[in-house]
Amino acid sequence: MLRFWSGGCYKREALDVAGVPRTSLFHVALGLSVMAEGVLVIVIDCLRADHVSAHGYDRETTPTLDGLARGGLLWEHAHSVSSWTKPSVTSMLTGLYPTEHGAFEGIKRSKGKLAATTDILQSNAPTLAESFAAAGWRCGAFINNAQLGEFSRLNRGFHVYDPSAGKADRILDSLGKWLDQERGARTFTYLHFLEAHWPYKPRRRHMQEFGGDRDTNYFRDFSARDFGKLRQAIARKEAKITEDQLTQMIRMYDAAVRRLDGKIKLAMKAIDERGLRDKMAVFVTADHGEEFMDHGRIGHGQSVYDELTHVPLVASIPGGACGVRHANPVSHVNLAKTLLAVGGVDNEMPGVDLTGEVDTDAPVFAELRVGRRYVHSVRKGRWKLHRTYKFQPQDGELDRSAGIGRLIDECPHKVHIELYDTVMDRSEREDLSGDTQYESVGRMLLDELDGWWRKVSSSAVEHDSYEIDDSLEERIRALGYVD
Ligand SMILES: [Zn+2]
Repeated sequence: MLRFWSGGCYKREALDVAGVPRTSLFHVALGLSVMAEGVLVIVIDCLRADHVSAHGYDRETTPTLDGLARGGLLWEHAHSVSSWTKPSVTSMLTGLYPTEHGAFEGIKRSKGKLAATTDILQSNAPTLAESFAAAGWRCGAFINNAQLGEFSRLNRGFHVYDPSAGKADRILDSLGKWLDQERGARTFTYLHFLEAHWPYKPRRRHMQEFGGDRDTNYFRDFSARDFGKLRQAIARKEAKITEDQLTQMIRMYDAAVRRLDGKIKLAMKAIDERGLRDKMAVFVTADHGEEFMDHGRIGHGQSVYDELTHVPLVASIPGGACGVRHANPVSHVNLAKTLLAVGGVDNEMPGVDLTGEVDTDAPVFAELRVGRRYVHSVRKGRWKLHRTYKFQPQDGELDRSAGIGRLIDECPHKVHIELYDTVMDRSEREDLSGDTQYESVGRMLLDELDGWWRKVSSSAVEHDSYEIDDSLEERIRALGYVD
């Protein structure tokens, strides 16, 4: 039986003299600061924060994450930078916003061009793994998501980069082998699990635990493509989903999350068994969330509302704090800086260390570009403002290789603004932007957004694209991404 995994944090039981933890006294006496000798990042594709029990969800979906949070840190309002895999993970691994790193859109097929292309990280952007590698760390990534193949350039700096690492059990197997192979070295390891992404494959007992029956579930035999087609049909208002079907879909997702949480427990066990428990910092998060008709759609990649950008962020850091919950909004754009700081690696990565002193009032930004639409948002305190641009090229054809800054400057467009009070209206349903009572709040947020936009758009990149072959296109489509 795996014991409660606390990663050697300051525990109340460990208090010794006048409330000062022993580990702290030890390190103060030796003039040492606590640095992890290993950093492990676990990304659970599609896990929205409000379906995590540590975040207050009423189903016990994530006992392992809950245990990690009790023994470490939890950021209650962590936000991904975008709402689908590629732009979001690229931001996590570079500390840049999509406008800056350029990995914005998925499969693109321009008129007159036979080959499809996809956006990739701009060629000269430094990566997190490069910083770790330059400091002598060994870097390994084991990923199950075709969007993050070597073509994405996210492999830069990794000594081992496996974007086809397979299902959770295979990833765990690779993790064990990697840790054995690198025994004694400082390691940065990135794991990316896809089991909370459709098609959901829950266990019968978890479905029953959550009040359902796997075998009679409407979506039991849905493939990723079936979900993708349903998503598209709902978006086009060609299909509807009943309340009962939605309940079943959510139950299936929750049960899939519960099953995957069991695999995270095995990852912790692998660390434990190798004696790395007190040496390795572990961060668990998601690249984005998942929508269940919160704003009339299913899936992800369609907006930057909270169901898609509010993600869990839990960390267990050797010698770190225990059971601390941070309430201020934070962004994934600071993850790279944070991981390097935890490993004690000097770096030039942009951002701030979330485990250090932070401005708790700092705004958090997100952005998404899909075809003719671009949206960015700012959250500050309880307020959140979205600004959406709809491009209307005069000749009907949009230059999809143009950086978003150039499009805004040169292409005719309409702008739409929404404002929400996320305390009174957590699900962002009641748009306050037209209410004069909130005019000054709206202006304050627009100033924040404009200031941020000036900064990121000054380093905006034209899109670097990769011409994708049939087999890659097939693998991406197999995830359920249809045009
Ligand atoms: Zn994803």
